[in-house]
Amino acid sequence: MSLLVVGSMAIDSVETPFGKRPEALGGSATFFSMSASLLSPVRLVAVIGQDFPEEHVQMLKERRIDLQGLERVPGGKTFRWAGKYGENLNEAITLDTQLNVFADFKPRLPEHFRDTPYVFLANIHPKLQLEVLEQVRSPKLVGLDTMNLWINHERAALLEVLKRIDCLTLNETEAKLLSGESNVAKAARAIRSMGPKVVVVKRGEYGALYFDQTHIFHAPAYPLEQVFDPTGAGDTFAGGMMGYLARTGGTDAAHFRQAMIMGCVLGSFTVEAFSVDRLKTVTGPELNRRFKLFRAMTHFEDLPEDFA
Ligand code: AMP
Repeated sequence: MSLLVVGSMAIDSVETPFGKRPEALGGSATFFSMSASLLSPVRLVAVIGQDFPEEHVQMLKERRIDLQGLERVPGGKTFRWAGKYGENLNEAITLDTQLNVFADFKPRLPEHFRDTPYVFLANIHPKLQLEVLEQVRSPKLVGLDTMNLWINHERAALLEVLKRIDCLTLNETEAKLLSGESNVAKAARAIRSMGPKVVVVKRGEYGALYFDQTHIFHAPAYPLEQVFDPTGAGDTFAGGMMGYLARTGGTDAAHFRQAMIMGCVLGSFTVEAFSVDRLKTVTGPELNRRFKLFRAMTHFEDLPEDFA
């Protein structure tokens, strides 16, 4: 089944302990759609400026990504984000955010996008997430991602959209910030009371936790010896998770387990290089191999029957 995503397409400037990459392709919708398109057809809604390199658009076109919802504003400037990572690679420090063309963006979904069964509102202003949600007709599953900027400054709009979604993905610090709880399980419970039936807490190198009313699941991250640039790991994870759900048509906890592992598999490729450098070369057989490594890494036998 297909999967609709709205989010940012960006020019990023990133600094990690291993080097700097100015003017790199980034954005929540970019990482998400590149990841998800390895698993299911993707429909993308976003806006770019005149300065956005055409080669990136071509690269997305060559994947299973329908770009009819991508608007290029003549004379406009693309969204820009600058961030850096210190020794703690799990959390980005935002140095600068320039909304540019996103400041006046009015998403308009092409008619054939409106019946998409799986919808993901990737990290962007919650008002834009809401505007997209208003244009889709009875989706099967709606996921959403957000960040500290919107939790701190656009809380009312964010709470509004949270009432209307099924699954929220956010990182651990953001979960605590949104809920006011310092314990992750309590934070997830509090967030579920805001609307989403499922909360997925992303924990960087420690993987991700799934919470619904009755189940908890822990998906580990792959213990890579060298993490080069964590930018986009969260969006890549969400793309893998939603892409897998859309591919299988599932929405229950059992599907989420596999979907989250697929998210962690894809995230583990993104962090191996700057920007989408590694993600863009990932192949199906590579996904398969790493998925098996995750299974082997987490498999253990039950206790012997005679164990007291
Ligand atoms: P993450 O997956 O959390 O590492 O997300 C990284 C991406 O988020 C970068 O490529 C940025 O361009 C994008 N980003 C950062 N801040 C924002 C924002 N305020 N709105 C939308 N996208 C953002």
